[in-house]
Amino acid sequence: MSSPFDLSGRWAVVTGANTGIGQGIAVALAQAGAGVIAVGRSGMEETESLIAPTGRPFHAIRADLAQMEALEPVIAEAEEVSGGIEILVNNAGIIRRADSLDFTEADWDAVIDLNLKSLFFLTQAAARRMIPRGRGKIVNIASLLSFQGGIRIPSYTASKSGLAGLTRLLACEWAAKGVNVNAIAPGYFVTNNTEALRQDEKRSSEILGRIPAGRWGNPGDIGGAAVFLASPAADYVHGVVLPVDGGWLAR
Ligand code: NAP
Repeated sequence: MSSPFDLSGRWAVVTGANTGIGQGIAVALAQAGAGVIAVGRSGMEETESLIAPTGRPFHAIRADLAQMEALEPVIAEAEEVSGGIEILVNNAGIIRRADSLDFTEADWDAVIDLNLKSLFFLTQAAARRMIPRGRGKIVNIASLLSFQGGIRIPSYTASKSGLAGLTRLLACEWAAKGVNVNAIAPGYFVTNNTEALRQDEKRSSEILGRIPAGRWGNPGDIGGAAVFLASPAADYVHGVVLPVDGGWLAR
């Protein structure tokens, strides 16, 4: 009997897969058997070379996901290459840091547009293919800021809190149509996203001191949760926001 976590023969689209958490997820999905379509605005050579040893098929699509007109063509190409995508991981996201009193409209719009608006319409384009087939897994990358306020990141917190709500709404609409919509909330991970935080010695040590696991997360720590939510093991799991945070929220 095959494992319920086996993704052999399935194809996953992963956005922002060139680095960080997206790269960690793309590699884990390939190790579980999936073909990977890596979408983003940067080259995907490093991710391709990390996936090569798995022997799973890989395809890269270059796209700036902040551009609305890029979204439908990304899914159309992914469908053509794969013959039908079954997994979409919405990982691409940005953060802008400034005190709320000084926060600019540009920093508000850039974050909300990519993290929430583009994510929704890319998901819509994918679900319009998945729902007629009665099968699909959508995994959104949320954040601890889906649960907490944070400081100096108002548009990011709004986007990630909004994403938790959107995850639940889409789960309610699509659960009976064979499409699972769930999210992962990473804790503090060592990626480009947290570089500024890690360079601030005071903030960095305060954060570390609050993590029960006693260390920041690495991209390799996130893949297991993504494989689970993308796999038949999660067929009856809908609308959850699963923290992978070294115990941060438990404290
Ligand atoms: P990252 O290294 O900054 O990765 C962000 C990814 O998004 C990169 O692949 C980036 O591509 C891509 N991206 C940004 N703008 C894009 C655009 N317009 N079009 C296409 N792709 C775009 O940071 P990360 O930590 O791995 O972030 C991945 C996700 O995890 C984000 O949604 C982030 O909010 C979330 N997250 C991270 C943490 C953490 O502690 N690191 C915690 C909670 C949630 P480029 O390299 O080309 O910019």
